Amino acid sequence: MSLWCFQIRKTLILGTIFLLSLPYQQVAAKTDRDVGPFVLIIDPGHGGKDHGAAENGVKEKDINLAVAKSLAKLLEKKKDNIKVVMTRDKDNFITLQRRADIANENKGNLFISIHTNSVDKSNKNRKNVSGSSVYTLGLNKDENNMKVAQRENSVIELENDYSHKYSGFDPNKDESYIIFQMAQKKDLLQSIKFAEQAQNKLVSKAHRGNRGVHQAGFWVLWATSMPAVLVELDFICNPTAAKYLSSETGHKEMAEALYEAIVEYVEAFEQKNKNAAIKAGVKNNNRTKSKTVAMQNNTLKCSDRKRRSKYSKVNPDERNFDVAVADEVAWVKDQEENTENTDRSKK
Ligand SMILES: [Zn+2]
Repeated sequence: MSLWCFQIRKTLILGTIFLLSLPYQQVAAKTDRDVGPFVLIIDPGHGGKDHGAAENGVKEKDINLAVAKSLAKLLEKKKDNIKVVMTRDKDNFITLQRRADIANENKGNLFISIHTNSVDKSNKNRKNVSGSSVYTLGLNKDENNMKVAQRENSVIELENDYSHKYSGFDPNKDESYIIFQMAQKKDLLQSIKFAEQAQNKLVSKAHRGNRGVHQAGFWVLWATSMPAVLVELDFICNPTAAKYLSSETGHKEMAEALYEAIVEYVEAFEQKNKNAAIKAGVKNNNRTKSKTVAMQNNTLKCSDRKRRSKYSKVNPDERNFDVAVADEVAWVKDQEENTENTDRSKK
């Protein structure tokens, strides 16, 4: 082959490689712009005239705010990747609806509502009950979960015309909670994933007792349009737990536990978005929506009824999950495996 002929072939090959790489370059550029920083909404429960639970000389609103502020401070290290929005950063009253509005207006990627648990004064075990639990939205007939949701939702009664503002929702009436069953949010699977991570960290890092991941009807989780969880740190009615909850060590450890869960979740979220954007770009350069995660697409396609019938026999595992939560976790894992198998067979 002459040198001239070789140069032409080399130019053609390099040109082809350049043209083939264009879609990927555009995907990468678009991904960077579209994704931006991950938006985390931290919602310290209660505030102002709404003290939340108050026992053993401490108020829930103060504990929630202290842990939330400590968490926000830790997240400053990650400010290039994670934008933090607080629904309140001082002792002021904010309605449940306003908290959800703040989350939605800021287009949050994850919503964490921070609370402190308690049980009725009539409960003889109230000084000994302890441990943390993380909730996602769902309708749960379990009496204890229902009570937690009712207590947290009852703050709307501090608003003047709450019945009108919350479309007739009455936190004390069981029948009001049916709306949460009908509204199966598409973000539920991601919510459960984060709930599991947060619960594990509260147990391993902050040494809280493990009361598991549960589902219940919390208005604030229902009104946010993103993966959302409500954390119950520990029980304020237990004098030992109350001491820890109001201590600087407690605030620091619980914030560190949540921080680690958040960082893990965000890393997985970013990796998934990158993979999905690259896959979408290879298939069709015009369809490079960075937030199109393959698993979420599958999630939307699968009807709830089909899923329930297939997974209804999954038992809760040793981490004390609700049956419904264990079903969801099994289903997520199955979906992920299916997605990976489909990807492999396409190669
Ligand atoms: Zn609360």
